[in-house]
Amino acid sequence: MARRLHPSLPSCRLLAVSDKVEPRIYGPSIKRVAGQVAFIVGCGDLPYYYLEYIVSMLNRPFYYVHGNHDRPEYRSNKSVIKEPLGGVNLHRRLYRSEGILMAGLEGSHRYNANQHYQYTQGEMWGHVLSLAPTLLLNRLIYGRYLDLLVTHSPPCGIHDATDRPHIGFRAFLALMRWFKPRYLLHGHQHVYNNLATTQTRYYHTDVINVYPFKVLDLDFSPAD
Ligand SMILES: [Zn+2]
Repeated sequence: MARRLHPSLPSCRLLAVSDKVEPRIYGPSIKRVAGQVAFIVGCGDLPYYYLEYIVSMLNRPFYYVHGNHDRPEYRSNKSVIKEPLGGVNLHRRLYRSEGILMAGLEGSHRYNANQHYQYTQGEMWGHVLSLAPTLLLNRLIYGRYLDLLVTHSPPCGIHDATDRPHIGFRAFLALMRWFKPRYLLHGHQHVYNNLATTQTRYYHTDVINVYPFKVLDLDFSPAD
């Protein structure tokens, strides 16, 4: 049914960034490294000045979620920036851009008393369920629930770790099984060697760790 309603789901190239300021991106080589991208995705834990630099250099739409280390930034003119300028915060929001249905879920597993961008497994279940009505509406209108899920943390058991800050969220697994996003892009889990797994198929979803950046050619046709 979904294929008949939408015979030519879009494919596109995007730049996704997370967790580490990367010199190849934060400098004049960014246009050569990124090429022509349809939009930019931020998976959290990056300074806002870095994200704003990327947006200003590439001049493309920017969608992001916060990571557990994100904090307000103090600028030289004494202003305080609580969000990167020029972007759309996807947390608990459904957004349609370039024909792609996207949503986001910020933060990490709770590991201390800090109020910002940390959640228990139960709280993340609440965030996922809050998206459900709009996802169901997407299915009625567009023939599919979701194309792209942007998160900071990985799902439980996929690219995650056993220490409390890096335990993945179980609710993401259910979201992928129920709503079949074609891709889940996350950060949070730093990658220090080339042998680490950074892309894993889970049912209909390719889960990709974008740390510290990835230029991705994504095909949003439904997976088998
Ligand atoms: Zn993090």
